[in-house]
Amino acid sequence: MSSPQFAELLNNPQLLRAITELGYTSPTQVQEKAIPLAIEGKDLLVQSKTGSGKTAAFLLPSISRMLTEVSNNPLSTRILILTPTRELARQIVKNAQELLRYTTIKVGMICGGEELKYQKALLRKNPEIIVATPGRLAEHIAHKSTDFSGLEILILDEADRMMDMGLHEDLVKVVAQCPAEKQTLLFSATLEQKNLRQLIQDVMGDKKAERIVVDDAPNPIDHKMVLSDGNPHKDKLLVACLEKTPHQKAIIFANTRARVDELNQLLRRHGYAVSLLHGDITQDERKKALDRFRDKKTTVLVATDVAARGLDIDAVELVVNVDMAYSGDEYLHRIGRTGRAGQSGLAISFVTAKDWNLTKGIERYLSIQMEMLQIAGLTAAYKGPEKLKASGKAVGIKKKIIDKPKTPEKKVKDRLRDKKNVGKRRQASTLVSENKNADGFAPPKKKLVQKLDQLDDAE
Ligand code: ADP
Ligand code: MG
Repeated sequence: MSSPQFAELLNNPQLLRAITELGYTSPTQVQEKAIPLAIEGKDLLVQSKTGSGKTAAFLLPSISRMLTEVSNNPLSTRILILTPTRELARQIVKNAQELLRYTTIKVGMICGGEELKYQKALLRKNPEIIVATPGRLAEHIAHKSTDFSGLEILILDEADRMMDMGLHEDLVKVVAQCPAEKQTLLFSATLEQKNLRQLIQDVMGDKKAERIVVDDAPNPIDHKMVLSDGNPHKDKLLVACLEKTPHQKAIIFANTRARVDELNQLLRRHGYAVSLLHGDITQDERKKALDRFRDKKTTVLVATDVAARGLDIDAVELVVNVDMAYSGDEYLHRIGRTGRAGQSGLAISFVTAKDWNLTKGIERYLSIQMEMLQIAGLTAAYKGPEKLKASGKAVGIKKKIIDKPKTPEKKVKDRLRDKKNVGKRRQASTLVSENKNADGFAPPKKKLVQKLDQLDDAE
């Protein structure tokens, strides 16, 4: 049986015309599965790999419902889409505008880093669709500037990441503003974490959602690892990797803002055109950095995990984890910036003695094997653990290598957001408890330190 065409899934000529102009000839698997159920009004939990077209899988049926069904509360926002980062929100807005080209439906964006006053004016106009990050939206709710009384559809893209970032409280506040009688759609490439149960309960209550898991072949990404002795060694490795691996664009991930800044400097010194993205640069700089990378004015993007989720950037052929991702899920999202929509990609991770067990856990969790890569002249003194368990993990390594959790000094540090009094700080206590539900293969203490660092990028 051949797969259905868009015209069989949607009967809105305006939408079909926009789809054709975007060059989408037939629906992807996730679109084929999710669109009919979403149009029926079902609550859905949808899991499908990175780059598989999830955005259109939630936008198309939602817009179609808006075009077909008359609102009984015409002044209220009808669709709310929540995302973990501003960059992803912007991308979804753009995608929505492309699909809405032949309609009069308006879409507005509410994210951190922009003036509240301007956003209040936008909210007063009640755009039919709002794309938002939860932190800023919760602020508007506190100021009573939102009207979701007639909301029909709530969509959470990268729902699991919002839990990771400690945005749960804000999400709950937002959900409390929405009518109980609405459709709820949750999308991600990873929806299996235990702490999602709480989120699902909070956003969907006792309503039974249908789960769609699209189980198609993984993206053709080559996974490689290079053993490393620490930051000075990683710096040399990074320069060598970029030199030796032909790529149109590369994304480099590090775990702290400070390291991202250092790597940015390093690569600039080596003549690379670099874009920089983390939670402590201004919104305007964040936007410019990503635009320049999209437009090929820069070839390298150095970022924290703020860039790990959802970004759909053409021609990213290489992802380097200068610092290993803190979990299997986050590894999957980071490397999912390459190998999108049928293209191939290369992911290289630098692995120190501390990262060995985490790396083996990630390999097992994702059923992948990272091929060991040697870089001539830069072989690490670290050769991997002397003794291995059957799992591939090091025997007795934990005691030797676990760092004492550092006190989270960063959190009392000067931050742009604090200086400007925008956004708000998350409570460390909620994170500590969240760690209980972590994916289970990172040393918990290390994870706590890293999680606290990620807070810097919470929106
Ligand atoms: P995901 O959210 O699953 O990671 P995206 O929604 O960002 O994936 O889509 C990945 C890319 O595929 C985007 O560039 C998008 O425009 C494109 N795309 C989506 N649906 C289709 C389709 N049916 N045919 C061709 N390309 C598509
Ligand atoms: Mg996406």
